[in-house]
Amino acid sequence: MTQPVVGRFAPSPSGWLHLGNLLSLLLAWLDCRSLGGELVFRMEDLDPARSKAEYIDAMADDLKWLGLDWDRGWPQPDYAQSRRTAAYESAFRSLEARGLLYPCWCTRQSRLISASAPRSGSGCPCADLALEERQRRFTSGRPCAWKIRVPDREVTVIDGHYGAMTQLLSRDPGDFVLRRSDGVYAYQLAVVTDDMAMGITRVVRGRDLLSSSPRQKWLTELLGGTPPDYCHGPLITDGAGKLSKRLGSLSTQVLKKELKPQELTGKLAFLSGLLDREEAVSPRELLPGFSWDRVRKEDIPCPPPEELLRPIPFR
Ligand code: GLU
Repeated sequence: MTQPVVGRFAPSPSGWLHLGNLLSLLLAWLDCRSLGGELVFRMEDLDPARSKAEYIDAMADDLKWLGLDWDRGWPQPDYAQSRRTAAYESAFRSLEARGLLYPCWCTRQSRLISASAPRSGSGCPCADLALEERQRRFTSGRPCAWKIRVPDREVTVIDGHYGAMTQLLSRDPGDFVLRRSDGVYAYQLAVVTDDMAMGITRVVRGRDLLSSSPRQKWLTELLGGTPPDYCHGPLITDGAGKLSKRLGSLSTQVLKKELKPQELTGKLAFLSGLLDREEAVSPRELLPGFSWDRVRKEDIPCPPPEELLRPIPFR
């Protein structure tokens, strides 16, 4: 029996959605709907310092405005990462009980130094601290992050769009943080715990997260789950690289004022290779012709605002 497809939207409310986020969400929707799958909307408001209520509220509105629907999830509280700490805690404790975690007192500065120095094993000076030294640091009250010890093993993910992605875990990423020194569980642990709990079978997102996939696959298996299929999409870049919410790159707030949803969908489809010319369409109208073979692999330069905001013909 083939497994039912469950895809997801997993935006972080650390800013207004921008063109690159919208393309990833459109591709996640097209991928899932073209496979007859169920879509889950998870609010990734994991980081309390960066998540803002106004961005949270805007995200569901933006998705609906664009015509991207979902079947379960937000605004139900179980689908917001800020409400799922108990699940992360329990995954964390199970790994800790297996002796896989260690406390790390490195500052950002010392992490950079140890990353550039020749590495033995994990590359983290805290990995092999003597028990007494560890105890001394605990007693001093200096907060520590918690890292997971990775094996010296290659892990390969076959990405649905970019093909094989192999990483030697001990070299790249090396031991990585599961709980930050401010007590917030790290993205890598949260995303894996959530994808398992929510029954996600396909992860579609921007290519900037492709390099996280091998460690997420490994962590999923370690926690007794079946890793999802991964399919990454191209990024939209400006002169400085990937568009960023924090830099206020052309956000949905601006785009929604100037364009109709079908115009924006048509522009995203044209930029990503799904349409041969710019024409206004709904996501649903893109479904019959949707194929990953048509989606560009290389990054997409963001058109200048005057070009982006120009009206285009309807079908
Ligand atoms: N919340 C992440 C973001 O908005 C995406 C996480 C994921 O898809 O794994 O960049």
